[in-house]
Amino acid sequence: MKNKMSFNILTNCCEPTSKMSNLSPLPIAIIGAGPVGLAAAAHLATKSVAFVLLESAQTVGSNILQWGHVRLFSSWQFNIDKVAMKLLVENGWKAPLLKRLPYGKDLVEDYLIPLANLPQIQPFIQLNSKVVAISKRGLDKMKNSQRDEQSFILYVEKNGRTERLEARAVIDATGTWAHPNPVNADNVWTDEEESLHSHITYGIPDVKGGDRSTFEQKRVAVVGGGHSAINTILDLADLEGTEIIWILRKHRVEEVYGGESLDALPARGQLGSRIHQLVDSGKISVHTPFLIHQVLPEDGTLTIHGTTPNGAATIEQIDEIIANTGSRPDFSFLREIRLDIDSATESVSALAPLIDPNIHSCGTVRPHGEAELRQPEKNFYIVGMKSYGRAPTFLMATGYEQVRSIVAHLTGDQEAAKRVELDLPETGVCSTNIGGKNSCC
Ligand SMILES: Cc1cc2nc3c(=O)[nH]c(=O)nc-3n(C[C@H](O)[C@H](O)[C@H](O)COP(=O)(O)OP(=O)(O)OC[C@H]3O[C@@H](n4cnc5c(N)ncnc54)[C@H](O)[C@@H]3O)c2cc1C
Repeated sequence: MKNKMSFNILTNCCEPTSKMSNLSPLPIAIIGAGPVGLAAAAHLATKSVAFVLLESAQTVGSNILQWGHVRLFSSWQFNIDKVAMKLLVENGWKAPLLKRLPYGKDLVEDYLIPLANLPQIQPFIQLNSKVVAISKRGLDKMKNSQRDEQSFILYVEKNGRTERLEARAVIDATGTWAHPNPVNADNVWTDEEESLHSHITYGIPDVKGGDRSTFEQKRVAVVGGGHSAINTILDLADLEGTEIIWILRKHRVEEVYGGESLDALPARGQLGSRIHQLVDSGKISVHTPFLIHQVLPEDGTLTIHGTTPNGAATIEQIDEIIANTGSRPDFSFLREIRLDIDSATESVSALAPLIDPNIHSCGTVRPHGEAELRQPEKNFYIVGMKSYGRAPTFLMATGYEQVRSIVAHLTGDQEAAKRVELDLPETGVCSTNIGGKNSCC
């Protein structure tokens, strides 16, 4: 049973109010203080438009901190929003070396936190503030009458209370990281799998750092064939006495090696080569294709049940499982919002043909902006990683262009909203096939 809710209207939360006289004095609400939500804040702050940035965690960049030990595959120059950079530099920030590849932790500590601390942004960020529902003021989803003119009401859980916040527009930049896919090959979450959470880690644990004791001297199964799985396995391989079992749905493990020395990004090419060598060395046991149906606890370890082309199979005596199986968007708090979501990718519908991972690599996704991201609910936008739904090909640079265009539209500059300013190199920031066909993460 949920706690009884208490409400509080917070319409005057966000000085400065808009300098633009024809715009509503209500703030624009941004949800999620990851790189894309913070970039939206920087764009709004630069235009002196009232905003509030709601972040469920205690700190900005919290999803990235969970993989802070992982090195990015795009260099600083592609990871910093241009308007945010300008604001930072004006406030005395020293930019990192733009050609360098940062770790996730660097991205947060050297860029996102300084950005969030700027006087133009910091007063308008509310941490520990989780958006649990959004609606149109006084309307249910079916009502058309004056819908477009009505403001949004956000229900925000904060310190055990639920507050109501009124906004003229909403930018949902909540990412997908917190909603991983299960290990089950049919992609169905079961109570059985959830009950094993103490022995299944979703994401990229810091196996050479704080999580070492969980995986050292253990028999560890890694599930997944993307960039995350490769990073995890390469780290596990450095641990003393750890036995690695790699479980993939792919038909051939070679599919994950990518371009290796031909990769446009040398760091990523090296990852492909290193995993290739590790597999060839026989130090890891590869099961591919293997479709997991069930994981069951047996005699203090886990048994993985599944099928291979030869029929039913089991992998026994697993101590820990690391699930690098991708993630999915959460629409639960958007139940009252009219959405247009692609039925396959769960991306914003208009993006689906641009980002279909069967066709596109990260670097070849055509830049897009407000027009493509527009939802049936006027002034409501899904941006960033979440706008790509389940597709793993999102790049921060794309998200920065999304919010540049949306902010231009919301502040009346339609010419700038339509203009394309994203300039990814033709070779792609992420254009070869490491981690399988066009998989980035
Ligand atoms: C391992 C890994 C490596 C990657 N490497 C690169 C790379 O090299 N280059 C690149 O361009 N991209 C990379 N990406 C992809 C992508 O750019 C990042 O995932 C990026 O963090 C996405 O930014 P975002 O702002 O959309 O979402 P996130 O960074 O996930 O931020 C979402 C924020 O929303 C908050 N939130 C969620 N729900 C709520 C709620 N209901 N209410 C309030 N707040 C909420 C979260 O706490 C979080 O702070 C990588 C991704 C991964 C997983």
